[in-house]
Amino acid sequence: MKSDVEIAQEARMQPITKIAADLGLSEDDIEQYGKYKAKISLAAWDKMKQRPNGKLVLVSAINPTAAGEGKTTTTVGLGDAFRRLGKKAMIALREPSLGPCFGMKGGAAGGGYAQIVPMEDINLHFTGDIHAVTTAHNLLSAIIDNHIQHGNVLGIDPRRVTWRRVVDLNDRTLRHIVLGIGGKANGVPRESGFDITVASELMAILCLAKDLDDMKQRISKIIVGYTYDNQAITAGDLKVAGALTLLFKDAIKPNLVQTLEHTPAFVHGGPFANIAHGCNSIMASKFALKLSDILITEAGFGADLGAEKFIDIKCRFAGFMPDAVVLVATVRALKAHGGIAKTELTKVNQKALEHGLENLKKHIENMQKFNIPTVVAINAFPTDTEEELSFVREQCKEIGVTVTISKVWAEGGAGGIELAEQLLDMFKEPKPVRFLYDETLPVKEKISVIAKEIYGAENVNYSKAAEKTIQDLNVMSLDKTPICIAKTQYSLSDDATQIGRPKAFTMTVREIRIAAGAGFLVVITGDIMTMPGLPKKTAAEMMDIDNDGKITGLF
Ligand code: ADP
Ligand code: MG
Repeated sequence: MKSDVEIAQEARMQPITKIAADLGLSEDDIEQYGKYKAKISLAAWDKMKQRPNGKLVLVSAINPTAAGEGKTTTTVGLGDAFRRLGKKAMIALREPSLGPCFGMKGGAAGGGYAQIVPMEDINLHFTGDIHAVTTAHNLLSAIIDNHIQHGNVLGIDPRRVTWRRVVDLNDRTLRHIVLGIGGKANGVPRESGFDITVASELMAILCLAKDLDDMKQRISKIIVGYTYDNQAITAGDLKVAGALTLLFKDAIKPNLVQTLEHTPAFVHGGPFANIAHGCNSIMASKFALKLSDILITEAGFGADLGAEKFIDIKCRFAGFMPDAVVLVATVRALKAHGGIAKTELTKVNQKALEHGLENLKKHIENMQKFNIPTVVAINAFPTDTEEELSFVREQCKEIGVTVTISKVWAEGGAGGIELAEQLLDMFKEPKPVRFLYDETLPVKEKISVIAKEIYGAENVNYSKAAEKTIQDLNVMSLDKTPICIAKTQYSLSDDATQIGRPKAFTMTVREIRIAAGAGFLVVITGDIMTMPGLPKKTAAEMMDIDNDGKITGLF
C-alpha cells in the first residue's frame, strides 16, 4: 500500500491559475505563491459579494479515538465526488500547525486518494500565515514588557499579565519560563510561558474576522492582563491594534490549492479545537460560498465540540448556517468506543461494535437539536469486514438516519458518489438550522444547555475560581458572548476514559478564560494543554530530504 506522501507526489497538479479560472477568478483576482498555491485578493470580493451563497456541508464525527476517523479524508473525497457529478463544489479546511507535524499526529491534508496537494507545502510553512500569527502575538508580548520597562504608565501588574508568548512547535520546556532576568537593562522579571501558535487568541481572531476592520476591532479588545487595581488592559490600551492587524495583511487572504482530482480547496486558518473553535476561517468560507454551489468543510474533534462550536460560534459570527452535516464513523473507532484495545481493533467483535454504536447514536440525536439534516458516512478501512460494515449501516437505518459507506480513501471521489447523491437529495428539502442557545442568556445557563443537551451531563460543578470569573464577567459586561468549551475530545463527558455514551455524570468547570477579542468565553474542564510535548519517538526522526529536494517520511 502506498503512503499518503507517495500518492501525493505522484499527483499531476494543475497550475493554480487553471484552478482559479475554473472558479471564475482571473490572474488579477489571485496572488500566486509559486505554481500551485495562491491567495485570493481582497479586491475580488467586490465582484462576487452580490451572488447568492452556495450550500454548506459540515463534516463532523463521533468522538475521536486512537483508531482515527477520517474527517479530512471524507471532506476532500466528498468534494471530489460532487465534482464528478458535475457540481461546482469547493472544499475549505484548516491549515496544519508544525508542532503536531513533527510529533505524531500525521498530516492534515487528508489521506489515501482523497488528499489536497501540494501536501508537503501545506504541511510545512505553506504561505506563512501561521508565521504571521506567531509574529503578531510576540509583538504584542514585547510591547507589554516594553511598557512595563518604560515606567508602566498603565499600571500593569507584572504578576497578572495573561498574554504569553507563542512558537509553532511542540516544546514542553517552554510551558513555564522566567522573563526579564539579567538586571535593569533587560526588563522587569516575571513569570510567563509559551503556547503553541495555533492556540493564540490571534489565530481564533484570524479565523473569525470578516475583514480587516473587523479584525482590528477584535484585536483591540484582546485582554492582555490586569492592573494593580484590577482593571483589564487591552491591546487597544497599548495602541497596537493597527500594527498587529497590518502583520495580517496577507495572512487574512484565503489560500487556494487543489485536491488530487483538481477540486479547488481553500486551506486557511487553524485554531485549536479545545480553547478555540477549531475550524477554518470565516474569510475562506465566505469567499467559497460565493465561488461554489456546494462548500464542504470540516470541524475539529467530534461533533460534541466541533459541530456545536461550528454552529454556535463560527456561524453566529459569520451569518451563514450549514445545510447538512456528515457524521463520520468507522467500524474500528466504534469498536474502540465499545471498550476494545487499539491492538485488537482489526478483529471482528460484534458486541463491542454494538456497544460503541451508542456514541454515534448520541451524536445523531444531538444533530437533531440543531435541526440539521444528517447523514452518517461510514469511512471504510481495508481491515473492515462486509458484515461489520452492513451491521453499522442497518443499525443507522433502523433509527431512521440516512447512511452510506464511504470509500474515498481507497477510491477518491468515485468512492463518495452515494454520499454526494444523498446530500443532493437533502438539499431539496432545506431545513432552518438553529443555534443551541441564545448568547444573551446568563453564562451558567449557556454552559448548562451545552453540557446537558449535547454531552448528556446531569449537573455542572464550578470551581471557586470559575465562580469568581463569572462574577467579574458580569461586572465587565463580557458575559453576553458564545461559549467555547475546552473539553477532552475523546469522551462526550469531561473525562477522557468515559468512552461510548457516558450517563449520569457531572461536568466540572475548572476555569473560565476571557477571549474578548475572539468574542467568546473559554470554559475549561479538566486539564487542557496549550503547549503540547513531543512523544519519545518523534515523527521528525522519519523525515528526510535529498539533494534534489525530494521529501520522504512526511506521513
Ligand atoms: P481526521 O480529520 O478525522 O483527523 P484524517 O482524515 O486526517 O482524520 O485521517 C487520519 C488518518 O487516517 C490519515 O493518515 C488517513 O490517511 C487515515 N485514513 C483515513 N481514512 C482511512 C481509511 N478509510 N482507510 C485507511 N486509512 C484511513
Ligand atoms: Mg482532520
